[in-house]
Amino acid sequence: MPKTEPQILVVEDDSRIRKELLDALRASGYGVEVSVSLESARFALQREHDLMLLDLGLPDGDGLDLCRALRAQGRGLPILILTARDAPDQRVRGLDVGADDYVVKPFHMPELLARVRTLLRRAGRSAGPGPVRIGELWADPESRTAGKGDETFEMTPRELDLLLFFLRHPGRAWTRDQLLDRVWGSTYDGERRTVDSHVRRLRAMVEDDASDPRYIETVWGVGYRLSENP
Ligand code: CA
Repeated sequence: MPKTEPQILVVEDDSRIRKELLDALRASGYGVEVSVSLESARFALQREHDLMLLDLGLPDGDGLDLCRALRAQGRGLPILILTARDAPDQRVRGLDVGADDYVVKPFHMPELLARVRTLLRRAGRSAGPGPVRIGELWADPESRTAGKGDETFEMTPRELDLLLFFLRHPGRAWTRDQLLDRVWGSTYDGERRTVDSHVRRLRAMVEDDASDPRYIETVWGVGYRLSENP
């Protein structure tokens, strides 16, 4: 499965904040990996990421040391520090060791997401995943619209999120629980039939014949898959 969405590494030991970040970033279309300590972050950083959100107070040390070490290695990965330390000299220290930006907890999620977009743009990477298309089906996350050919669907935000998710991961089968987690978010206490009812509504829009779906296929014993070659 090719990963086209920007990849963000979240280093945060507070499970509640980690979950909020994970849900908000995924809902914005980013690929997210999480680390709960400096050690696991160092391991994760063996792979490429487009941005790192870094907490400072971690169980095995100070995030500033990781930041300093990465810059010493010449790695230009954009780093956004996320911390409860709000004294001005603390902010300066963070920026001095090579962080690109600094957000103090508790933070306002829309502001944090705006800063993430700014950093990605500044780094010359895409500010967010662009329009996607499979066959005649298309969806545009910027304008929050989707359709088929010249037709634009009238749909709820969640139906659009689900369709975007399928379009970004064609050819792969997803279980209902995976879809609940990735599209509704892990804080959503939903039921599997919620997925079925959304798929039914999507099929009514995207399929020529909803009883014989070409786009959103049922994978028996698993869940659903968007066909790569409808
Ligand atoms: Ca912490």
